[in-house]
Amino acid sequence: MRAILLFLFSKTYATPMKVIDHINEAKETLFSFEILPPLKGKNVQSIYDGIDPLMEFKPKFINVTYHREEYIYKDRGQGLLEKIAIRKRPGTVGICAAIMNKYQVDAVPHLICGGFGKEETENALIDLQFLGIDNVLALRGDSIKTESVFKPHENGHKYAVELIDQIREMNYGNYLMDDYQLEPTDFCIGTAGYPEKHFEAMNLATDLHYLKKKIDAGAEYITTQMFFDNEKFFAFEKACRNAGIDVPIIPGLKPIKTLNHISFLPQFFHIDFPEELSKELLKCTSNEEVEQVGIEWGIYQSKELKKAGVPCIHYYTMSKSDMVKKIANEIF
Ligand SMILES: Cc1cc2nc3c(=O)[nH]c(=O)nc-3n(C[C@H](O)[C@H](O)[C@H](O)COP(=O)(O)OP(=O)(O)OC[C@H]3O[C@@H](n4cnc5c(N)ncnc54)[C@H](O)[C@@H]3O)c2cc1C
Repeated sequence: MRAILLFLFSKTYATPMKVIDHINEAKETLFSFEILPPLKGKNVQSIYDGIDPLMEFKPKFINVTYHREEYIYKDRGQGLLEKIAIRKRPGTVGICAAIMNKYQVDAVPHLICGGFGKEETENALIDLQFLGIDNVLALRGDSIKTESVFKPHENGHKYAVELIDQIREMNYGNYLMDDYQLEPTDFCIGTAGYPEKHFEAMNLATDLHYLKKKIDAGAEYITTQMFFDNEKFFAFEKACRNAGIDVPIIPGLKPIKTLNHISFLPQFFHIDFPEELSKELLKCTSNEEVEQVGIEWGIYQSKELKKAGVPCIHYYTMSKSDMVKKIANEIF
């Protein structure tokens, strides 16, 4: 399978590359973005419609998020409710393979601990290798919507660092059940970082302590949570360096799009808007006005980050290209 896909890619596609190699080879700030798999039952075309307009900016890689199961209650009649697990956005791996095949751009699937036993993780990684996908962003994942705290799978990982350990062991040829070495995998592992700290961490220092452990375990670069205040990113980068974290740090940016985002983004992602931005947002009375502010702020943030020499700017598109395209037009 891997051989066939590599043969197909090789006709038009320079060999798939690792994110860390893209960064190391780059002479200037790279462009990348994140998309979501379509809702179950939706066509893959909706994904292509979000990617096509951004191809002119030559993304070096495209991340695809992973969405775990949610629980819903189905009415079975006679007062009986059945609790059912569903995944609303399956298809992360399939979308990654489709992206690599159609666009000849490297895809980075997100892999989470939640819902996965160690063996399922191992099998998922084997699938990725067969598909020629050598990049993975290793995450813990959030709790299920109906649970207040993250509960690991009974045979799974509690923290992202344990997932990174497992992937690194496979890169050494150490699989779960065998006491002899197997063919090593060759994954480039990315990890998440939080300029405004992860919401569960006691403080930024403890969060950085655990971030360092993820790097020591084998993560080769960090992609950050969205932020709107570049000063917070620069302070985070400095704190990382002081803590001995020396891998590339990729800032993640999301353009604010709707009036609803003004309260939703800080609440959901545990981030602040800087005062200057909040003043502009308070003047907005429509989604169109918010969108205009979002584009202008995204351009401002991107220009400053690029000038500071960040390795790559990673945009959270939510699979919609319009705003990121307007920002990228001014930057790349
Ligand atoms: C770039 C990016 C992409 C993302 N993509 C997805 C996605 O596709 N799907 C999805 O479900 N979620 C995604 N998330 C959200 C992410 O899964 C959540 O933020 C999750 O709550 C934490 O994941 P993590 O990998 O940072 O966890 P971890 O690194 O495990 O950290 C979680 C918390 O535990 C603490 N901690 C870490 N290690 C230890 C330890 N050994 N002992 C004690 N405490 C520890 C940390 O300080 C932190 O507070 C993404 C986040 C980012 C920034």
